[in-house]
Amino acid sequence: MVLSIKNIVPILHAQWFGKHPNTLIENIAIDSRSLQNGAQTLFFAIVGPNNDAHIYIEELLEKGVRNFVVTHIPESFKDQANFLVVENTLDALQKFAAHHRDLFDFPIIGITGSNGKTIVKEWLNFLLSPDYNIIRSPKSYNSQVGVPLSVIAINAQHNLGIFEAGISTVHEMEKLEKILKPTIGILTNIGSAHDEGFANIGEKMKEKLKLFHHAKILIYNKNKSIDAFLNPKLKTFSWSCKDEEADVFIAKKSILDKTLLKIRYAESTFEIKIPFQDDASVENAIQCIMTLLYFGYNPKTIESRVELLFPVEMRLKVKNGINNTMLIDDSYSSDFQSLKIALDFLESQKQYKKKSLILSDIFQSGLSDEELYSKVSQLIISNKISRVIGIGETISKFKNKFLNCITFPNTDAFISQIESLNFGNETILIKGARTFNFEKIVHALEEKTHETVLEINLNAISHNLNFFKSKLKPKTKMMVMVKAFGYGNGGFEIAKLLEHHKVDYLGVAFADEGISLKNDGIKLPIMVLNPESTSFAAIIQHQLEPEIYSLKGLNAFLKIAEQKKLKNYPIHIKLDTGMHRLGFETEQLKELIARLKDNKTVQVKSILSHMATSDDLEHHEFALEQIALFEKLSSELIFELKIKPIRHILNTSGISNYPKAQYDMVRLGIGLYGISNDAEEQINLENVGTLKSIISQIRTIDMGESVGYGRRFMATKTTKIATVPIGYADGISRHWGNGVGFVTIHDQKATIVGSICMDMLMVDVTDIACLEGDPVIIFGESPTVIYIAEKLQTIPYEILTSISQRVKRIFYRE
Ligand SMILES: *Cc1c(COP(=O)(O)O)cnc(C)c1O
Repeated sequence: MVLSIKNIVPILHAQWFGKHPNTLIENIAIDSRSLQNGAQTLFFAIVGPNNDAHIYIEELLEKGVRNFVVTHIPESFKDQANFLVVENTLDALQKFAAHHRDLFDFPIIGITGSNGKTIVKEWLNFLLSPDYNIIRSPKSYNSQVGVPLSVIAINAQHNLGIFEAGISTVHEMEKLEKILKPTIGILTNIGSAHDEGFANIGEKMKEKLKLFHHAKILIYNKNKSIDAFLNPKLKTFSWSCKDEEADVFIAKKSILDKTLLKIRYAESTFEIKIPFQDDASVENAIQCIMTLLYFGYNPKTIESRVELLFPVEMRLKVKNGINNTMLIDDSYSSDFQSLKIALDFLESQKQYKKKSLILSDIFQSGLSDEELYSKVSQLIISNKISRVIGIGETISKFKNKFLNCITFPNTDAFISQIESLNFGNETILIKGARTFNFEKIVHALEEKTHETVLEINLNAISHNLNFFKSKLKPKTKMMVMVKAFGYGNGGFEIAKLLEHHKVDYLGVAFADEGISLKNDGIKLPIMVLNPESTSFAAIIQHQLEPEIYSLKGLNAFLKIAEQKKLKNYPIHIKLDTGMHRLGFETEQLKELIARLKDNKTVQVKSILSHMATSDDLEHHEFALEQIALFEKLSSELIFELKIKPIRHILNTSGISNYPKAQYDMVRLGIGLYGISNDAEEQINLENVGTLKSIISQIRTIDMGESVGYGRRFMATKTTKIATVPIGYADGISRHWGNGVGFVTIHDQKATIVGSICMDMLMVDVTDIACLEGDPVIIFGESPTVIYIAEKLQTIPYEILTSISQRVKRIFYRE
């Protein structure tokens, strides 16, 4: 895609302001972190319900971006760039994508449904790639933003498109249909996911089917409740395991770890083995087989390709590696689009100065190898990668396009040399096509620890932040509390994300937490809630801002600050308005004022207080009294000291329950991590942390036999017991054992039996089909942290912050 601004203006129905109508645009961006070749980038400032990308314009101008699609031009940047003004920037992005799509007329497969979209897409890509140059949605880019971005990557060398479309409410599919105009439709399993956005299942079905408005054929699992909504003019190619009327009739049979399908199609019958047993995988594989049949492949070819299907991992994961390295594991795909996404992700992670990229040959770019590797090299340079390790015959040929590059013909050759490459103190992105088996590299470089991990969904954190932002007045600032290692979820990674979202302040409990964030490169101002006098020097050295809550503390801080001849050093004054924990009381105000009046060493950056009952409306009166006292005391300070500080008193539940007391800033804590004390509000939040382990061993015990210390579980019948390597040393309360709590295995509840041990617990899996090595969820979607807290008569804060540091944190973006 190369288009001039002049040509883009009419496509977007935009009004153009600027001086350079002939600037050529090669890239589209919507995320300020994702830039290559800034001068040729057109940035769409997307306005979401709770966030507005116009705030990134200044930063982008600094990075050299000169072309923007906006709803309004920020006054101060008026003549500095080309501005294309539209009513709705998302709409404009979609128009642009639809226009681009119309330039091509090869078949486009459009996939929708509630479950399995990404898997079917990835599998079809694998199955059809020997014969086509395929463009597909990267990862699960299937939203109102993801679909246009995927489509814009189509180029003239592609001859087949595979895109997924996902919706959460009505009227969304029409828009995606206009962008994709699929010629071949696939409807995957319609489950109950995302039902909130629809009045009923019928409405959801109708809406999803809109994707196939222009399709020449629809492939689907025949079912009366779908048939009722189908447009009679739409041609279908249906399958079923129940309904003999379907075009293709299939009988399933399990054999060992595979499933044998007996397929009756037209006049013939044949068998195909697929390497899965669970219903979802079998259904997804059948959708793929149907598509291949539709494309005219013979059963032999289908069988030989389907045999090689693999589990799909779409998440980018961050893991600890050997010798102080950080691994970003994206070892299942290697197309150009997803390389871009992975490099963006790398940028947002804990940074070592040194960054290595291990990259395999890239397939199906649609470009010539020469063009492709030039583009890749440009991308890598703009992401400041210090070393490139290329694996594969093709990338080896283009070695000299990269700055610091070593190549190997294949993965095994690389692994045999791994020692000599001296990996250490660096971030390593591992990105390869499936055939290269890069999981072997991840395995070789991964730090070996036990199998229990806390997975943190970074998208969910952004979602929750935006949710609470939407409750604030436009001018209200936001401090986010990342104390106690981000409520157990990880300090740096979350701080980095918050920095991107331009929150105004971070809050930590102790100086060392703030120091480690600053050392890792966090630039946001950080308030320290509970500074000890012994840490004041370190606080100053690292530019942290202390909360001052007593005269003793103030005097000690002033003494050091004066010694260091500081001027206007920011401090925060804490008032005690009823919590009776920390803070100045009414009686001490006079002395505080006297001490601070005309003082040039420090500057009162903010005045704060903390509420004792913001979550409990039974104490509504008390809360209002606290707010009133805060108003009175802070006003007095402001008047006497003639200052203009930021005032703040609300924590998460305060934001929800006392919106009038937002003052100039709020302090968001637990809400960011997906927890509200209000059931209605809870529905709007997304789950952030999932604590996961695996089954180490399974055994069957007879009636009368016992499990664990003290024989506290006695089997009353033959019972299948699974052992999971997580215990109270990992932060799981012993009160959660002995039949009180449960874990989730394959979406089913498994009760914890017997006492929880230090490093292990045992669960009853008599009624669950499971194997050793299968994943176990300790908390997450189910059971939720809130549920566990309730059962254990504590609060979610305690459950979250109890998870021991020996449990590895893995961060991912969807
Ligand atoms: C922890 C804390 C918060 C955040 O509280 P949440 O209930 O988690 O939102 C706000 N202010 C102070 C002073 C805190 O200590």
